[in-house]
Amino acid sequence: MFGIYIHIPFCRTVCPYCDFVRERVDGAAPDAYVDAVCREIERFEGPEAAGSVFFGGGTPSLLRPESLERILGTVAHRFRLDSPEITLEANPDDVTAPLARAWRDLGVNRISLGVQSFDDAVLRALGRRHNADRARDACALVAAHFENWSMDLIFGARPVEAWWPTLDECMRLDPPHVSAYGLTYEAGTPFEKRASEALDQERALRLYEEAEVALAAFDHYEISNFAKPGFAARHNLIYWRNEAYAGFGTAAFSFVDGVRARNLTDTRAYMQEPGKKSESLRLSDHEIRVETLIQHFRLREGLLKAYYRRRFGVEARADFCPQLDALCARGLIEEDKGAFRPTREGFYLNNEIGIALV
Ligand code: SF4
Repeated sequence: MFGIYIHIPFCRTVCPYCDFVRERVDGAAPDAYVDAVCREIERFEGPEAAGSVFFGGGTPSLLRPESLERILGTVAHRFRLDSPEITLEANPDDVTAPLARAWRDLGVNRISLGVQSFDDAVLRALGRRHNADRARDACALVAAHFENWSMDLIFGARPVEAWWPTLDECMRLDPPHVSAYGLTYEAGTPFEKRASEALDQERALRLYEEAEVALAAFDHYEISNFAKPGFAARHNLIYWRNEAYAGFGTAAFSFVDGVRARNLTDTRAYMQEPGKKSESLRLSDHEIRVETLIQHFRLREGLLKAYYRRRFGVEARADFCPQLDALCARGLIEEDKGAFRPTREGFYLNNEIGIALV
Protein backbone atom coordinates (compact mmCIF):
# COMPACT_ATOMS: atom_id res chain seq x y z
CA MET A 1 0.00 0.00 0.00
CA PHE A 2 1.31 3.45 -0.94
CA GLY A 3 0.87 6.23 1.64
CA ILE A 4 0.54 9.97 1.46
CA TYR A 5 1.79 12.20 4.25
CA ILE A 6 0.89 15.91 4.36
CA HIS A 7 2.78 18.12 6.78
CA ILE A 8 1.02 21.14 8.30
CA PRO A 9 3.87 22.94 10.08
CA PHE A 10 1.88 25.47 12.09
CA CYS A 11 1.06 25.64 15.80
CA ARG A 12 -0.68 28.27 17.92
CA THR A 13 1.91 27.79 20.65
CA VAL A 14 5.25 26.03 20.45
CA CYS A 15 5.83 23.32 23.06
CA PRO A 16 9.30 23.49 24.66
CA TYR A 17 10.07 19.78 24.21
CA CYS A 18 9.15 19.63 20.54
CA ASP A 19 11.77 19.27 17.80
CA PHE A 20 9.39 18.89 14.85
CA VAL A 21 9.51 21.35 11.97
CA ARG A 22 6.82 23.84 12.94
CA GLU A 23 6.26 27.53 13.47
CA ARG A 24 3.85 29.68 15.39
CA VAL A 25 0.78 31.20 13.75
CA ASP A 26 -2.10 33.10 15.30
CA GLY A 27 -4.91 31.93 13.08
CA ALA A 28 -5.51 29.13 10.64
CA ALA A 29 -2.90 27.50 8.42
CA PRO A 30 -2.24 30.14 5.71
CA ASP A 31 -3.86 29.83 2.26
CA ALA A 32 -0.49 30.38 0.55
CA TYR A 33 0.79 27.23 2.22
CA VAL A 34 -2.28 25.24 1.17
CA ASP A 35 -1.70 26.49 -2.42
CA ALA A 36 1.90 25.27 -2.30
CA VAL A 37 0.94 21.83 -0.98
CA CYS A 38 -1.70 21.46 -3.71
CA ARG A 39 0.82 22.45 -6.39
CA GLU A 40 3.28 19.91 -5.06
CA ILE A 41 0.66 17.14 -5.09
CA GLU A 42 -0.44 18.00 -8.64
CA ARG A 43 3.13 17.80 -9.93
CA PHE A 44 4.04 14.59 -8.09
CA GLU A 45 5.56 11.91 -10.32
CA GLY A 46 5.14 8.45 -8.90
CA PRO A 47 2.51 5.85 -8.03
CA GLU A 48 -1.07 6.43 -9.17
CA ALA A 49 -2.88 4.72 -6.28
CA ALA A 50 -2.74 5.22 -2.54
CA GLY A 51 -4.35 3.57 0.46
CA SER A 52 -3.75 6.15 3.19
CA VAL A 53 -3.56 9.88 3.70
CA PHE A 54 -2.09 11.25 6.91
CA PHE A 55 -2.23 14.92 7.93
CA GLY A 56 0.55 15.41 10.48
CA GLY A 57 2.18 18.39 12.05
CA GLY A 58 2.54 20.81 13.45
CA THR A 59 -1.18 21.07 13.98
CA PRO A 60 -3.39 19.91 11.10
CA SER A 61 -6.47 20.84 13.14
CA LEU A 62 -5.53 24.45 12.31
CA LEU A 63 -6.56 23.84 8.70
CA ARG A 64 -9.81 25.57 7.84
CA PRO A 65 -12.35 23.01 6.52
CA GLU A 66 -12.16 24.73 3.10
CA SER A 67 -8.39 24.21 3.08
CA LEU A 68 -8.73 20.58 4.10
CA GLU A 69 -11.33 20.11 1.36
CA ARG A 70 -8.97 21.66 -1.23
CA ILE A 71 -6.07 19.43 -0.27
CA LEU A 72 -8.20 16.28 -0.16
CA GLY A 73 -9.75 17.22 -3.52
CA THR A 74 -6.27 17.62 -5.00
CA VAL A 75 -5.18 14.28 -3.56
CA ALA A 76 -8.29 12.57 -4.97
CA HIS A 77 -7.63 14.16 -8.37
CA ARG A 78 -4.00 13.02 -8.48
CA PHE A 79 -4.33 9.58 -6.83
CA ARG A 80 -6.72 6.70 -7.14
CA LEU A 81 -7.76 6.20 -3.52
CA ASP A 82 -8.79 2.71 -2.56
CA SER A 83 -10.92 2.79 0.65
CA PRO A 84 -8.27 5.04 2.17
CA GLU A 85 -7.55 5.53 5.83
CA ILE A 86 -7.54 9.32 6.20
CA THR A 87 -6.01 10.46 9.49
CA LEU A 88 -5.85 13.97 10.88
CA GLU A 89 -3.78 14.89 13.92
CA ALA A 90 -5.72 17.22 16.19
CA ASN A 91 -4.92 19.39 19.16
CA PRO A 92 -7.57 18.93 21.89
CA ASP A 93 -7.89 22.70 22.14
CA ASP A 94 -9.13 22.92 18.53
CA VAL A 95 -11.80 20.23 18.63
CA THR A 96 -15.40 21.42 18.46
CA ALA A 97 -18.54 19.55 17.41
CA PRO A 98 -18.94 21.51 14.13
CA LEU A 99 -15.28 20.99 13.24
CA ALA A 100 -15.39 17.26 14.02
CA ARG A 101 -18.51 17.00 11.83
CA ALA A 102 -16.79 18.91 9.03
CA TRP A 103 -13.73 16.61 9.17
CA ARG A 104 -15.97 13.56 9.02
CA ASP A 105 -18.06 14.98 6.17
CA LEU A 106 -14.89 15.66 4.19
CA GLY A 107 -13.83 12.03 4.43
CA VAL A 108 -11.47 12.02 7.41
CA ASN A 109 -12.05 8.67 9.11
CA ARG A 110 -9.38 8.61 11.80
CA ILE A 111 -8.35 11.24 14.35
CA SER A 112 -5.08 11.18 16.24
CA LEU A 113 -5.61 13.33 19.32
CA GLY A 114 -2.58 14.84 21.07
CA VAL A 115 -3.84 14.45 24.65
CA GLN A 116 -0.39 13.73 26.19
CA SER A 117 -1.70 13.78 29.78
CA PHE A 118 -4.81 14.26 31.90
CA ASP A 119 -2.85 16.14 34.55
CA ASP A 120 -2.85 19.95 34.44
CA ALA A 121 0.62 20.24 36.01
CA VAL A 122 2.10 17.91 33.39
CA LEU A 123 0.34 19.75 30.58
CA ARG A 124 1.69 23.06 31.87
CA ALA A 125 5.20 21.61 32.16
CA LEU A 126 4.94 20.42 28.57
CA GLY A 127 3.75 23.86 27.48
CA ARG A 128 0.55 22.48 25.97
CA ARG A 129 -2.26 24.93 25.28
CA HIS A 130 -5.03 22.59 26.50
CA ASN A 131 -5.81 21.51 30.05
CA ALA A 132 -7.10 18.17 31.30
CA ASP A 133 -10.79 19.14 31.13
CA ARG A 134 -10.37 20.29 27.55
CA ALA A 135 -8.66 16.99 26.73
CA ARG A 136 -11.59 15.02 28.23
CA ASP A 137 -14.12 17.07 26.25
CA ALA A 138 -12.13 16.64 23.04
CA CYS A 139 -11.97 12.86 23.54
CA ALA A 140 -15.74 12.71 24.02
CA LEU A 141 -16.34 14.82 20.90
CA VAL A 142 -13.95 12.78 18.78
CA ALA A 143 -15.42 9.50 20.05
CA ALA A 144 -18.92 10.75 19.19
CA HIS A 145 -17.92 11.44 15.58
CA PHE A 146 -15.26 8.81 14.78
CA GLU A 147 -15.17 5.09 15.40
CA ASN A 148 -11.43 5.08 14.67
CA TRP A 149 -9.35 7.43 16.78
CA SER A 150 -6.14 7.39 18.71
CA MET A 151 -5.02 9.00 21.94
CA ASP A 152 -1.38 10.16 22.12
CA LEU A 153 0.15 10.08 25.60
CA ILE A 154 3.58 11.06 26.95
CA PHE A 155 5.16 9.43 30.00
CA GLY A 156 8.10 10.64 32.05
CA ALA A 157 7.07 14.31 32.41
CA ARG A 158 6.90 15.82 35.92
CA PRO A 159 5.14 15.04 38.14
CA VAL A 160 5.90 11.46 37.16
CA GLU A 161 3.12 10.05 39.40
CA ALA A 162 0.55 11.67 37.12
CA TRP A 163 1.11 8.77 34.72
CA TRP A 164 -1.14 6.40 36.69
CA PRO A 165 -4.25 8.62 36.80
CA THR A 166 -3.62 9.45 33.12
CA LEU A 167 -3.72 5.75 32.26
CA ASP A 168 -6.90 5.34 34.37
CA GLU A 169 -8.54 8.20 32.51
CA CYS A 170 -7.43 6.75 29.20
CA MET A 171 -9.11 3.45 30.13
CA ARG A 172 -12.27 5.27 31.12
CA LEU A 173 -12.43 7.11 27.78
CA ASP A 174 -11.76 3.85 25.95
CA PRO A 175 -10.09 4.86 22.66
CA PRO A 176 -9.55 2.08 20.12
CA HIS A 177 -5.89 3.03 19.69
CA VAL A 178 -3.26 4.49 22.04
CA SER A 179 0.28 5.74 21.34
CA ALA A 180 2.50 6.11 24.41
CA TYR A 181 5.86 7.83 24.02
CA GLY A 182 8.56 8.58 26.56
CA LEU A 183 9.41 12.27 26.98
CA THR A 184 12.72 13.13 25.32
CA TYR A 185 14.95 16.14 25.88
CA GLU A 186 16.04 16.93 22.33
CA ALA A 187 19.02 19.05 21.36
CA GLY A 188 18.02 22.48 20.12
CA THR A 189 14.80 22.63 22.17
CA PRO A 190 14.30 24.55 25.46
CA PHE A 191 14.08 21.15 27.15
CA GLU A 192 17.69 20.44 26.20
CA LYS A 193 18.78 22.52 29.20
CA ARG A 194 16.63 20.37 31.45
CA ALA A 195 18.07 17.06 30.29
CA SER A 196 19.21 16.32 33.84
CA GLU A 197 15.51 15.91 34.75
CA ALA A 198 15.19 12.96 32.35
CA LEU A 199 14.25 9.68 34.01
CA ASP A 200 16.89 6.98 34.02
CA GLN A 201 16.23 4.07 31.73
CA GLU A 202 14.96 1.82 34.49
CA ARG A 203 12.32 4.26 35.73
CA ALA A 204 11.22 5.06 32.20
CA LEU A 205 10.91 1.34 31.53
CA ARG A 206 8.72 0.94 34.62
CA LEU A 207 6.31 3.60 33.34
CA TYR A 208 6.24 1.92 29.95
CA GLU A 209 5.46 -1.40 31.62
CA GLU A 210 2.64 0.27 33.55
CA ALA A 211 1.15 1.26 30.21
CA GLU A 212 1.45 -2.33 29.01
CA VAL A 213 -0.41 -3.54 32.11
CA ALA A 214 -3.15 -0.90 31.83
CA LEU A 215 -3.54 -1.56 28.11
CA ALA A 216 -3.47 -5.34 28.42
CA ALA A 217 -6.75 -5.64 26.54
CA PHE A 218 -5.08 -4.02 23.50
CA ASP A 219 -2.74 -5.57 20.99
CA HIS A 220 0.68 -4.05 21.73
CA TYR A 221 1.50 -4.26 18.04
CA GLU A 222 4.38 -1.76 17.86
CA ILE A 223 6.88 -0.55 20.44
CA SER A 224 4.83 2.55 21.30
CA ASN A 225 1.44 1.61 19.91
CA PHE A 226 -1.55 -0.32 21.19
CA ALA A 227 -4.69 -1.14 19.23
CA LYS A 228 -7.96 -2.94 19.62
CA PRO A 229 -8.57 -5.52 16.87
CA GLY A 230 -8.86 -3.83 13.48
CA PHE A 231 -7.59 -0.44 14.67
CA ALA A 232 -3.83 -0.63 14.02
CA ALA A 233 -2.68 2.53 12.21
CA ARG A 234 -2.57 1.50 8.56
CA HIS A 235 -0.54 4.55 7.53
CA ASN A 236 2.13 4.05 10.17
CA LEU A 237 2.39 0.37 9.23
CA ILE A 238 3.76 1.60 5.89
CA TYR A 239 6.71 3.17 7.75
CA TRP A 240 7.17 0.16 10.02
CA ARG A 241 7.25 -2.15 7.01
CA ASN A 242 9.61 0.18 5.15
CA GLU A 243 7.19 0.54 2.27
CA ALA A 244 6.73 3.48 -0.09
CA TYR A 245 5.12 6.83 0.70
CA ALA A 246 5.14 10.39 -0.57
CA GLY A 247 5.43 13.34 1.79
CA PHE A 248 4.07 16.77 0.86
CA GLY A 249 4.72 20.03 2.70
CA THR A 250 7.63 21.59 4.54
CA ALA A 251 10.35 19.11 5.52
CA ALA A 252 8.22 16.11 4.56
CA PHE A 253 10.08 12.88 3.85
CA SER A 254 9.31 10.56 0.95
CA PHE A 255 10.43 7.06 0.12
CA VAL A 256 9.60 6.32 -3.50
CA ASP A 257 11.35 3.88 -5.86
CA GLY A 258 14.18 3.34 -3.41
CA VAL A 259 14.92 7.06 -3.01
CA ARG A 260 14.61 8.66 0.41
CA ALA A 261 14.15 12.41 0.01
CA ARG A 262 13.17 15.38 2.12
CA ASN A 263 11.48 18.63 1.11
CA LEU A 264 12.95 22.04 1.93
CA THR A 265 12.82 22.54 5.69
CA ASP A 266 12.05 26.27 5.70
CA THR A 267 8.38 27.00 5.07
CA ARG A 268 8.95 30.22 3.09
CA ALA A 269 11.49 28.51 0.86
CA TYR A 270 9.16 25.52 0.50
CA MET A 271 6.26 27.75 -0.58
CA GLN A 272 8.43 29.24 -3.33
CA GLU A 273 9.58 25.87 -4.59
CA PRO A 274 7.21 23.15 -3.38
CA GLY A 275 8.60 19.72 -4.14
CA LYS A 276 12.25 20.87 -4.22
CA LYS A 277 14.36 18.52 -2.10
CA SER A 278 16.78 19.50 0.62
CA GLU A 279 18.24 16.00 0.55
CA SER A 280 17.81 12.95 -1.59
CA LEU A 281 19.50 9.59 -1.33
CA ARG A 282 19.12 6.50 -3.47
CA LEU A 283 19.37 3.52 -1.14
CA SER A 284 21.15 0.42 -2.34
CA ASP A 285 19.16 -2.78 -2.48
CA HIS A 286 21.13 -4.04 0.51
CA GLU A 287 20.32 -0.88 2.52
CA ILE A 288 16.63 -1.30 1.76
CA ARG A 289 16.75 -4.92 2.96
CA VAL A 290 18.56 -3.95 6.19
CA GLU A 291 16.07 -1.16 6.90
CA THR A 292 13.18 -3.49 6.16
CA LEU A 293 14.46 -5.86 8.83
CA ILE A 294 15.09 -3.12 11.38
CA GLN A 295 11.67 -1.58 10.89
CA HIS A 296 9.83 -4.90 11.07
CA PHE A 297 11.43 -5.63 14.43
CA ARG A 298 9.54 -2.62 15.81
CA LEU A 299 6.43 -4.72 15.26
CA ARG A 300 5.26 -7.51 17.54
CA GLU A 301 4.51 -9.61 14.43
CA GLY A 302 8.16 -9.25 13.44
CA LEU A 303 9.32 -10.13 9.96
CA LEU A 304 7.14 -12.68 8.22
CA LYS A 305 9.34 -14.96 6.13
CA ALA A 306 6.78 -15.11 3.32
CA TYR A 307 6.69 -11.29 3.22
CA TYR A 308 10.45 -11.04 2.79
CA ARG A 309 10.45 -13.77 0.14
CA ARG A 310 7.63 -12.08 -1.77
CA ARG A 311 9.24 -8.65 -1.62
CA PHE A 312 12.88 -9.54 -2.32
CA GLY A 313 12.61 -12.92 -4.05
CA VAL A 314 14.93 -14.61 -1.58
CA GLU A 315 14.78 -15.98 1.97
CA ALA A 316 15.71 -13.55 4.78
CA ARG A 317 18.11 -16.21 6.04
CA ALA A 318 19.93 -16.26 2.71
CA ASP A 319 20.62 -12.52 3.10
CA PHE A 320 21.18 -12.22 6.86
CA CYS A 321 21.98 -15.65 8.26
CA PRO A 322 24.84 -14.68 10.66
CA GLN A 323 23.07 -11.53 11.88
CA LEU A 324 19.76 -13.31 12.52
CA ASP A 325 21.53 -16.16 14.32
CA ALA A 326 23.44 -13.67 16.47
CA LEU A 327 20.24 -11.81 17.39
CA CYS A 328 18.55 -15.11 18.28
CA ALA A 329 21.57 -16.13 20.38
CA ARG A 330 21.39 -12.80 22.26
CA GLY A 331 17.70 -13.39 22.96
CA LEU A 332 16.61 -10.25 21.09
CA ILE A 333 14.61 -12.08 18.43
CA GLU A 334 13.22 -15.58 18.09
CA GLU A 335 12.49 -17.66 15.04
CA ASP A 336 9.53 -19.86 14.35
CA LYS A 337 8.32 -21.53 11.19
CA GLY A 338 6.81 -18.40 9.69
CA ALA A 339 8.65 -15.42 11.15
CA PHE A 340 11.48 -13.78 13.03
CA ARG A 341 9.92 -11.90 15.94
CA PRO A 342 11.35 -9.58 18.58
CA THR A 343 11.36 -11.14 22.05
CA ARG A 344 10.07 -9.06 24.92
CA GLU A 345 13.62 -7.89 25.53
CA GLY A 346 14.13 -7.17 21.84
CA PHE A 347 10.98 -5.07 21.87
CA TYR A 348 12.43 -2.86 24.62
CA LEU A 349 15.93 -2.86 23.13
CA ASN A 350 15.02 -2.21 19.53
CA ASN A 351 18.06 0.06 19.09
CA GLU A 352 20.33 -2.86 19.83
CA ILE A 353 18.73 -4.82 17.02
CA GLY A 354 19.27 -1.92 14.66
CA ILE A 355 22.92 -1.57 15.64
CA ALA A 356 23.54 -5.29 15.20
CA LEU A 357 21.97 -5.30 11.74
CA VAL A 358 23.75 -2.18 10.52
S1 SF4 B 1 1.57 21.22 19.16
FE1 SF4 B 1 2.76 19.39 18.52
S2 SF4 B 1 3.96 20.06 16.74
FE2 SF4 B 1 3.20 21.92 17.76
S3 SF4 B 1 4.87 22.54 19.08
FE3 SF4 B 1 3.49 21.27 20.34
S4 SF4 B 1 4.29 19.17 20.15
FE4 SF4 B 1 5.24 20.39 18.52
